[in-house]
Amino acid sequence: MKSKLKALVVAAHSDDEALGCGGTMARLAGQGWDVGVVFMTNGVGARPGATSSEASKRHVAAEQAVKAVGARLLQAFDFPDNALDSVPLLKLAQAIETAAAHFAPQLVLTHFAHDLNVDHRLVHQAVITAFRPMPDSPVEAVLCFEVASSTGWQSSAMPAFRPVLSIDITGTLPAKLAALQYYDVEMRSPPHPRSPEMIEALARVRGSQAGLAMAEAFEIQRVNVSGTSVLGNL
Ligand SMILES: [Zn+2]
Repeated sequence: MKSKLKALVVAAHSDDEALGCGGTMARLAGQGWDVGVVFMTNGVGARPGATSSEASKRHVAAEQAVKAVGARLLQAFDFPDNALDSVPLLKLAQAIETAAAHFAPQLVLTHFAHDLNVDHRLVHQAVITAFRPMPDSPVEAVLCFEVASSTGWQSSAMPAFRPVLSIDITGTLPAKLAALQYYDVEMRSPPHPRSPEMIEALARVRGSQAGLAMAEAFEIQRVNVSGTSVLGNL
């Protein structure tokens, strides 16, 4: 039997995966991919008065949100939220390497390098360190997603997000929005970019830039094509 293609999503906080690539995750899962997720922080640590029960509630929400797009949670690390810059990059990269070792993904999706949120930037660095192109690496592509709010709020002195890859999520936007319902504590009312209305609007804009009804957009960090490439199965 042909083994399943595997996609790994590495996100700083639970909700980033749904905001950044929830529609793509659902699309891949629907096409038979095994989609795994790794979170680097508990997602609530920096909030004033955050408690361990809040963290465990968030963990349950994350498991449900991941399931809503047909993926599975591989690992949730507990590195300090909004303070990943206090952790050596090597430690973050090693954690990702360990979490991904058995999964052996062909496709990796993670944060854009220049988001406003410091955790997003550090996770990007750690991911490209963990999946550096060694000869025996199974990874064929590393893609970077945008996170509505953090990607758009960065200083104008920093490089802007300039996507070159559009993935059609016309059929899976409902799954993305369903996943985001589990993160209601992070969602806001329009015109906030992290409102369901603006998430749909962004999908329509990204689609319109690619001749599609709705899309998620990605920067390409790295793509290898050799042998039997999985990229035709995206
Ligand atoms: Zn985040």
